[in-house]
Amino acid sequence: MLDLSRRFAYTDEHNMFRDTVRKVFAQHLEPFLDEHEKNGIVPREVWKAVGEAGLLCPTVKEENGGLGLDFGYCAVVGEEMAYLGSAAGFTLQSDITANYFERLGTAEQRAKYLPGMVTGDIITAIAMTEPGAGSDLQGIRTTAREDGGDYVINGSKTYITNGQNADVVIVVAKTDPAAGAKGTTLLLVEDGTPGFVKGRNLDKIGQHAADTSELFFEDVRVPKENVLGGVGRGFVHLMEELRKVKRVIQKLDPQAPHEVLLVLDANTGQNAVTQVTAFDDALGVTGLVLTKLDGTAKGGVIAAIAKSRPRPIRFIGVGEQMDDLRPFVAAEFVNALFEEPAA
Ligand SMILES: Cc1cc2nc3c(=O)[nH]c(=O)nc-3n(C[C@H](O)[C@H](O)[C@H](O)COP(=O)(O)OP(=O)(O)OC[C@H]3O[C@@H](n4cnc5c(N)ncnc54)[C@H](O)[C@@H]3O)c2cc1C
Repeated sequence: MLDLSRRFAYTDEHNMFRDTVRKVFAQHLEPFLDEHEKNGIVPREVWKAVGEAGLLCPTVKEENGGLGLDFGYCAVVGEEMAYLGSAAGFTLQSDITANYFERLGTAEQRAKYLPGMVTGDIITAIAMTEPGAGSDLQGIRTTAREDGGDYVINGSKTYITNGQNADVVIVVAKTDPAAGAKGTTLLLVEDGTPGFVKGRNLDKIGQHAADTSELFFEDVRVPKENVLGGVGRGFVHLMEELRKVKRVIQKLDPQAPHEVLLVLDANTGQNAVTQVTAFDDALGVTGLVLTKLDGTAKGGVIAAIAKSRPRPIRFIGVGEQMDDLRPFVAAEFVNALFEEPAA
């Protein structure tokens, strides 16, 4: 089991949340892991139970039906799922699609989908990959042709997480095939829309409980209000979000290159250097920053340092003594961790 005494990135609130996650998973996920794997899907009741317990989309703002917490709460859920060995698609919704809706959605789109995504009543997917377009997303062939007040979508997608369960899918399509990346748009397609067909739930060598699917679109007509973000801005939106996803994966992957950085108060920090050195190996510290830290500005200082470092930072401790480190690792740390580094 995870030794939380070494996990300085998390606050006491995160740790309390982790207890809740473990209890909820012990009741609703653990006893059914084999069944989920055998069936290749996690049933909606489990999504509902997990959502009602407050485990889905923790970062969604209160005005959109969420709790407005920091990304550390998403990380806790992801870690606990990994310990359990569950491939449920909760993290796709909490860590990825929720951001698209919250950041790019109109007031109507946010009100329509986000509260249900938080409660588990609405399950979402994002459909980028196609049989002929994976890493190179510019090669997608799915089109969305303008027709009066609608777009008409044609094409197919594959490897789509939550593909069977999805109530609404963010579909990446070319609205102007001649314009290359600049002609790509994100469109929302709801389950049940005529011409939208969920294909096979794919057989995989791992993640057996995840309903990773093919999706087909044949003359699927959606109103222009279903555009998510800007027309022709789809590729930019994807790149913004995918960069974040990559950084998240890097953060959670223990093999990924990263810095373990300690930040100490320059006024008194020299005294702490010897203590820190004693802990170096145990913490795997790779860098030390001495800087002036004054009271309330600490969060901003941490964020600025995190942004200025060339490599992802896994841990920043701020304090004068080793014992001081933990209380100073504030929520700002977690937020700073997932911000883009300075260009
Ligand atoms: C379990 C699972 C869930 C998924 N969920 C989703 C989802 O929800 N939505 C979605 O849209 N997609 C999803 N995908 C698809 C995933 O995003 C793609 O598999 C991924 O983008 C890679 O595309 P590809 O499989 O076509 O591989 P390819 O792009 O064909 O790549 C094959 C290999 O070639 C390498 N390669 C490719 N281009 C280059 C290059 N220029 N230089 C050097 N090497 C290169 C790749 O690194 C890889 O090793 C999922 C995939 C899996 C396995």
